[in-house]
Amino acid sequence: MTQSLLILGGTTEASALARVVASRGIRAVFSYAGRVGAPRAQPLPVRVGGFGGVDGLVAYLRANAITHVIDATHPFAAQMSSHAVQACNIVGIPLAALTRPAWVPTKDDQWRDVADMDAAVAALEGAPKRVFLALGRMHLAEFAAQSQHHYLLRLIDAPDATPLPNCEVVVARGPFNVEGDIALMRHHKTELVVCKNAGGSGARAKLDAARNLGLPVLMIARPVLPQRTEMTNPAEVLQWLDHPGTEGTERGV
Ligand code: NAP
Repeated sequence: MTQSLLILGGTTEASALARVVASRGIRAVFSYAGRVGAPRAQPLPVRVGGFGGVDGLVAYLRANAITHVIDATHPFAAQMSSHAVQACNIVGIPLAALTRPAWVPTKDDQWRDVADMDAAVAALEGAPKRVFLALGRMHLAEFAAQSQHHYLLRLIDAPDATPLPNCEVVVARGPFNVEGDIALMRHHKTELVVCKNAGGSGARAKLDAARNLGLPVLMIARPVLPQRTEMTNPAEVLQWLDHPGTEGTERGV
């Protein structure tokens, strides 16, 4: 049977997979949630926007005769990942996740691990600080509960309104480098970095910069995801497509 892939995107890894899949001439659709104003162009047909929950995704998979789903969403896109597992089970097609290992601290890092966003907000209780809130735009409002701090925000798109009462927005799209992030944190007199344990190379410059500057990091742990087959590079995905069941690791994150 001809393969027809649905790649759930929004990450550097998804774009890398799209290039490999396109170069192989494999039929595939690349899906974006539609969070970013101008998403990266892809060498595959692109669709944008939610599917409408598990039922909507099931309908999409059937209507488009999708044979394989590759979940290459961000490790914190827990809802989409959970929907993908459920929908593939219902339709009876295989799913693989293309993901990246979580970051681990070196002996010179000063990380404080917290379980989730609520715990990160609670951990900011205390005297005013200059905080680099490196979380993207989706959970910013929750930090209004700790409005004593000055927040530096780095966002892909300029926000319509000031997301927090006492903040400064830098509009930039990764990947970032250590020298640039050291300069950014020095310029803004950053005292604490708050970030999600996204893993990967494109966003890790801020951690290397924080270590270099001797700054503490509040590190938000990954959400728990359903059991699924996971891979960490596009070559493994291609092998899985050629020989289903032979590659990847069964795990939840
Ligand atoms: P989420 O909470 O898991 O998903 C919320 C809803 O957005 C999903 O239920 C789905 O809507 C829709 N959605 C998410 N990813 C989609 C995709 N690739 N294609 C079509 N619909 C999608 O996800 P999120 O945290 O909002 O992240 C949204 C997107 O941004 C993801 O694609 C992710 O890869 C990317 N991203 C996220 C983060 C992050 O920190 N969360 C960081 C960088 C990039 P329906 O239920 O209607 O299908």
